Order: sequence, then C-alpha cells, then structure tokens
Amino acid sequence: MTSQTPITVARGDGIGPEIMDACLKILDAADANLAIDEIRVGKTVYEEGNTSGIEEGAWEKIRATGVLLKAPITTPQGGGYKSINVTMRKTFGLYANLRPVRAYYPFVFTRYPATDLVIVRENEEDLYAGIEHRQTQEVYQALKLISRPGSERVIRYAFEYAKRNERKKVTCFTKDNIMKLTDGTFHRLFDKVAEEYPDIEHDHWIIDIGAAKVATTPEAFDVIVMPNLYGDVVSDIAAQLTGSVGLAGSANIGQTVAMFEAVHGSAPDIAGRGIANPSGLLLGAIMMLVHISHTEAAEQVHNAWLRTLEDGIHTGDIHNQTYSTHWASTDELADAIIERLGEVPQTLKPVSYADTVDQQPISSAIDEAIHTVKQLVGVDLFIDWSEGERDPDAIGGRLSQINGDGLKLKMITNRGVKVWPGGQPETFRTDHWRCRFVADGVDTITQGQVINLLTRADAAGWDCIKTENLYTFDGEAGYSLGQGE
Ligand code: NAD
Repeated sequence: MTSQTPITVARGDGIGPEIMDACLKILDAADANLAIDEIRVGKTVYEEGNTSGIEEGAWEKIRATGVLLKAPITTPQGGGYKSINVTMRKTFGLYANLRPVRAYYPFVFTRYPATDLVIVRENEEDLYAGIEHRQTQEVYQALKLISRPGSERVIRYAFEYAKRNERKKVTCFTKDNIMKLTDGTFHRLFDKVAEEYPDIEHDHWIIDIGAAKVATTPEAFDVIVMPNLYGDVVSDIAAQLTGSVGLAGSANIGQTVAMFEAVHGSAPDIAGRGIANPSGLLLGAIMMLVHISHTEAAEQVHNAWLRTLEDGIHTGDIHNQTYSTHWASTDELADAIIERLGEVPQTLKPVSYADTVDQQPISSAIDEAIHTVKQLVGVDLFIDWSEGERDPDAIGGRLSQINGDGLKLKMITNRGVKVWPGGQPETFRTDHWRCRFVADGVDTITQGQVINLLTRADAAGWDCIKTENLYTFDGEAGYSLGQGE
C-alpha cells in the first residue's frame, strides 16, 4: 500500500458538496490513503466581501500539500469578482491544462466510438496574457506572447505524460505557416523535445486542418499539445464529440502545485437534489491519484467506474433507454462504484496504471537561445495617420524626410500588408501604419538613435503610437517581414 498523502479539498458551490462527498466516499473505500485538508472557496467567500473567492490562509494550505481537488464554483454575476480558476492558474503557475477525452460507446452515444485522446493545453501564455490596447480610432491590438521556457515546459509535460500513461503518439497543433516566430518557436521546440523521446511517435498539424481532423477522425490522435487559445477551442470540440462533457475531468499542472476538477460547472439548477453525476469530478480525482503515484487506487476506482457505466447504473444526465438499467442518485452511483471495486469493465477497455512511472519534475533543458548575440538593427514606428485619401506615397514621401543619423525608412505596411514603396491600389488602408526604419550605412544602431528618430518624428508632427525594436539573434532576424516585402 502507498503511504498517506496530504491533499487539499474544496467542496465548491451548487452540486459541488454533493459530488465531492460521493467522490471522497469512493476514494476512501478504495483505500486511496489520503490525508484531507479542506479549504473554503467560492460563493460564500465572495459574499463575505473577498473578491478572489478564496478564504484567508487557503494559499498556504494548498502550497503545503501541492495538490487541490476542487469541486465547481459559482462565480457571482456582475463585475469585481475574479474567476477562481484564473486566479489559481496565474498564482501557482499551472502551466499545463490536461483534458482526457474518451468515448464510452455504446453506453453513452457518440458517432466517434474509438475516441481516446488527451489534450494538453498551454495554460498561461499566448493571447491570454490579456495585454490589449486601442491605438487609433480604428485599430485595437492584443499581444500574443509565447516564451521558449513556457513552451518547452508544456511540450515536455505532454511527452512525459505520454510516457507515464503508455500513450504512443504526441501531436502538436500550431499556425506556424503564418506566425513563424511565435507558433514557429512552439513547433521547433516540439520537434527538439520529441528527439528525446524516440519511443513516442510525433507529428505536427496546422491548427485549422488539425482541428478539422479532430472533429472528423478523433481516433487518429493520442496526445495533442498546443498553445493556449487553440487548446481552449479544440478541447471543447473534442469533449462534445464523445457526448460526455459531463463525464470529463481536468487537471491543471504547475511545478509545485496541481489542481484537479470536473470540466462542468456548479449546476445550480439541480443543486441540493442529490441527482448530480459525480463522474467528472471522480475522473479528475483519478488523475490526481495518478499524479501523486497512488496508481493502484486510481486503477481500481477507474475500472470500477467503467464497470458501473457498463452495468447501466446511470444518473439522469446520461440515462438512456437502451443501456440504462437503473436511474441512480448521486449516492446510489457512488455505492454502485464501491460495490464494483476490484472489477474491470467487460466491453470498454480497462485502464492500467500499474506500470506508470513516477512523475518527473519538468525543467527546461534546451538553452539554444540563451547565448546568442542580440543586435539592434532597426525599428518599426507605428503611426496614427488618416489624412486625405490615406495615400501611401504621401506618408512614405513625407516620413522619408526624417531619415538620417544611420536610419532610413525601408517600407510601410498597413495591417501587415506592404503599401510603400510600390503597394497595390486595392489594399484597404486603416489609420494604423507600421513604418520600418533600418540601419543605413551601419550594421547596428543604438537605443539613442531610436530616441533621436522619435524626436525627429515628433518634431515633424507625426503621432507615433508605439515602437518595436528590430533585433537580430546571431544574425537571424527576430522580426517578421511585411506581407509582400
Ligand atoms: P454547468 O456545467 O454548471 O451546467 C450546464 C448544464 O449541465 C445544466 O443543465 C446542469 O444541470 C448540467 N450539469 C452540469 N454538471 C452536471 C452533473 N455533474 N450532473 C448532472 N448535470 C450536470 O454550467 P453553467 O450553468 O453555465 O454554470 C453554472 C455555474 O458554474 C456558473 O456560476 C459558472 O460560472 C460556474 N462554472 C464553474 C466552473 C468551475 O468551477 N470549474 C466551470 C464552469 C462553470
């Protein structure tokens, strides 16, 4: 038997306490050997005036165990309340969101009976940094930030997860044909990390065709890792395919803390009636048991749950005329699972966690970019300009007058498309112009030259809304070219 492991538990709101009680009863019957410490999060804490929804002292408790099993929370309507999930993710650096998606056909109907995949979504970066600006009357921007260590960590986690769980293949989705630097970095690091796992197949798909393939042939995938926004969308598509969103568990993994939960919410419409399905939270709890290496209990509970599903003991949300034999309450379902501990499913594939290797700490090992020579070779000046017909030759000609001091206007783009010199008349033009000045007659420039350029632009009356420095790294451009450049 494994040694007792401390975990933190939050019972949540709505159906949360009911399904948590059912789960803990099952874990206890399976000798999961957990020392449970409870914290209060959610509605009552919000109502006490704590806008984070997490009681005082809870952070220390979670930090002490490193593991949180969390029932769903009701986020109060109206402004000012922060989502607990987002707060947890950001505070503890929960960089990987794991969502296994499996079909339970024929017991739960789906057109994709062979689906059995796991989505690993990067959880902290990408457009979710929430750095947005309005820069002109017409144009708004959001910054998509992708870091090398952040990408490497989640990719490495995906391969380690595949290894631990005897998965055969890891697939990566990006849009690196368009975003060569951000998504390109994610893809490149994926290929590099894959080299360290020769026993695991790997491939890459452009996100659009990849998502389409998930929606039509989900059985072609095993583990899929992707940046934050794509993962958000694709994990919901995948979960819908199996017809079992209510049966999905999820894990949020960080370096020192991990949080496990159901994918669904607190279902206030059925709270207090004892009819909620505890399966999503139970599957989250099983992921937690594997995470803390209580694999024997994880396997026992998971197989007993599959067997119960096969035996037709179903809560109302998945009840069907063909396969259901008993309309179970939350408690009855828990008791039925407990009765089947030690049994395995007959039709569905049993799970095996017996040979699961221990979780390895994930650290960045690729230091390719750290020792590169970084040189400043130019600057993109973003200008708000909307005079007359917005003629590119007019802005190009006038702006060239501030050339000098080692910098020269090379091109202008509008929404990324080159309009000067030599643009096409059909190109639509907003009031947002990216004007690229590059080193002229010198190899590199200084920050001082950039500041001088800005001073000359200001003196000439230009409305500069921002600048982006252009760097090379070991001679390689760290910036994209304009479309048509
Ligand atoms: P929901 O998932 O709570 O409910 C959607 C529908 O599914 C409802 O009809 C509900 O009765 C049903 N349902 C959900 N879980 C069920 C279960 N285990 N058994 C049987 N039926 C189930 O989504 P919602 O109604 O949009 O959100 C309700 C609250 O939950 C909101 O306050 C929302 O912010 C919150 N929420 C929390 C989390 C979380 O804590 N991780 C996630 C999503 C939503």
